[in-house]
Order: sequence, then C-alpha cells, then structure tokens
Amino acid sequence: MKKFAALLFLSIALLSNTVSAKVISNEKINNQKVEQAKKIIVGLQKDMKSYTAKGSGPFVAAIYDKNGNLVAKTANSVVNETCSNNHAEMNVIKAAEKKLGTYDLAPYDLRLYVTAEPCIMCLGGIMWSGIKEVYYGVPSKSVEEITGFDEGFKPHWFKEFKKRGIVVYGNIEPEIGEQELHNYVNDGKEVYKPSRKSE
Ligand SMILES: [Zn+2]
Repeated sequence: MKKFAALLFLSIALLSNTVSAKVISNEKINNQKVEQAKKIIVGLQKDMKSYTAKGSGPFVAAIYDKNGNLVAKTANSVVNETCSNNHAEMNVIKAAEKKLGTYDLAPYDLRLYVTAEPCIMCLGGIMWSGIKEVYYGVPSKSVEEITGFDEGFKPHWFKEFKKRGIVVYGNIEPEIGEQELHNYVNDGKEVYKPSRKSE
C-alpha cells in the first residue's frame, strides 16, 4: 500500500511538471480552435528571435481570417519606432486595417493571435477594431513577473469581451513564450516603460 501511495505521488508530481497551463476561455472550450491557435502561437513565438534581432519585440501578433489565411503579422515596435502605442496587437490591427482599407474589421470575421495577454491599451484597441476572436499565449501575470512590464488594470475583461461578442482564449502554449521573455531580459534588451516618480 505504501508502495502504491509513493507511486501515485510520483506520477502526480511528474504529471504536474509536464502538463502545460490550462487553456481558459470566455466560451465553451472548442478543441479545434485551441489546436489551431497552438500551431499559430508557437509559430509566432519562434518568429520572436528574428524580430528582437531587428530591435522589435518581444511580442508578436498576427491576424487570420476564419479560413486560416494570414492577413497581417507584426511585432511590438515601441523602441525602434519610438512610439509607446506600438504594441504588437496595435501594430497588427493597423496593418490589417490598412491592407483591407477599413477601420471596421468586423465584417471580415477576423481572429487575432498574440504571444502574450494583451495589455490595458491593446484591449481597447481590439475592442474598437471589430476583431471577433482573441488568442494569447503567456498570461499578464507571468509577463510582469519575468520582465517587469506593467500590463495595466483589466477587471473582468473576459466577461466584458463576451458582452461585446468577442471570444477569448488564453494560456495557449505559454512555456515557449515565457522562455523567450526570459531570453529577452537575460540578453539585456530594453524593458520600456514610462518613468514614474514612485520608482
Ligand atoms: Zn499592449
């Protein structure tokens, strides 16, 4: 019996180390959407290195249509374009709107994929763009812990997006993204934020 208990403990310990973070959503989890999002987000995480080498990043976002066709893909460019608004999500929305020649993406039924949870500004940007679905990798809590970026206050945003007909899926394959953020910090890259008196 003791042996069984020890074995059970060992298998739970092993399992908890290997099972990735649980996907969360504001709708009933659709596995097909999760699988597609995993592929896209892992791809974006792998693209991160080439963007950070050019001075962008460390976040990458892409917009796809419902048939899986890429509409736009961009990284964060706050530092290299000297603009505090240039987060990956804002950049990709701007790129998609420019490409489609509209400020209203709603009729195009588009999905936004991003390597980390959108910040307070990007939630507003997404809400105003007409994007229908949002998928992200690393949760804000981890982004803040790893990098020191301030993601802002976002009370009940899953619920608020649901009210506005926007589907959200989070914690999609966050491990690779977290590793990339560690690399960004360890490489001594700039963690941009406004200076504040309290700091
Ligand atoms: Zn943002």
